[in-house]
Amino acid sequence: MAGASVKVAVRVRPFNSREIGKESKCIIQMSGNTTTILNPKQPKENKSFNFDFSYWSHTTPEDINYASQMQVYKDIGEEMLLHAFEGYNVCIFAYGQTGAGKSYTMMGRQEQDQQGIIPLLCEDLFTKINDSNNDNNMSYSVEVSYMEIYCERVRDLLNPKNKGNLRVREHPLLGPYVEDLSKLAVTSYNDIQDLMDSGNKARTVAATNMNETSSRSHAVFNIIFTQKKYDMDTDNTSEKVSKISLVDLAGSERADSTGAKGTRLKEGANINKSLTTLGKVISALAEIKKKKVESFIPYRDSVLTWLLRENLGGNSRTAMVAALSPADINYDETLSTLRYADRAK
Ligand code: ADP
Repeated sequence: MAGASVKVAVRVRPFNSREIGKESKCIIQMSGNTTTILNPKQPKENKSFNFDFSYWSHTTPEDINYASQMQVYKDIGEEMLLHAFEGYNVCIFAYGQTGAGKSYTMMGRQEQDQQGIIPLLCEDLFTKINDSNNDNNMSYSVEVSYMEIYCERVRDLLNPKNKGNLRVREHPLLGPYVEDLSKLAVTSYNDIQDLMDSGNKARTVAATNMNETSSRSHAVFNIIFTQKKYDMDTDNTSEKVSKISLVDLAGSERADSTGAKGTRLKEGANINKSLTTLGKVISALAEIKKKKVESFIPYRDSVLTWLLRENLGGNSRTAMVAALSPADINYDETLSTLRYADRAK
């Protein structure tokens, strides 16, 4: 059985200095759930899409579509966290062109009110655990892992000394997993914050013409959340295990638009393979849900989708945030991001 359909949000960021320098025009409009993109070459040619949420960030908080980091967390992150408490596996991923706001949405910045979905969710997880600690029959454990997938290879961000390629294997009951990936027990939000900081430093970043520190890898932050409940009447303990996967995808731009050659071009092909496969998996799941028919889901076609299998299909809940640039110079990429997001619904 496929899970509920994917929750899809789009979020437009403010102009960056490059766009301001080029006197770019804003080609995105948002009203309620609807996002419209204007074709800068044919101003009459608009395309509109409906999503669960359309988030605007570059005017004032009075704007009705304006969304703070906390708002985005409340709409998307908290709902997924509550599903994890119910025992579902969940996945939140950010998709979009490099520089469009994926890391800002997932990780955010350290300053006050600038933290993204991952830190806010981790903090809320421990708040909710502490709130329910007066129930003596419940006990909780939290473990985290953090990995990077680059050119179909997996690297452990919590043990960067382990430079080797980690092997991806399949457990007969638990499904695909990464052999020897560090899984660290944490007992507070501060523990997680320290691990996140060191993991983020370890991420592979490489310069491209698009953005000096453009990220060419997918970062997958996993929380394995176990809830144990003791039943006094039967003297039995039951256990619910949920995996929360929080994914900052590599930039979705086509290799050719970044002037890529050689290694960079090969990277582009590999990255696009994972992103294309992820798109196929998500739309196949959406079709199954809509038409209630079984259909082949190509999880195995990329390491990313294979490792996320238990978080995308089956007993799981998924949300996606598509990050958009507001500028006319990014029209093609932004339109392709909107189409990708549209297929996930
Ligand atoms: P990506 O991860 O997609 O490459 P980033 O998240 O690094 O892009 O965003 C690029 C820049 O834009 C960063 O300086 C980031 O802080 C800023 N930014 C992105 N989204 C927003 C937003 N919604 N509001 C304010 N600043 C943003």
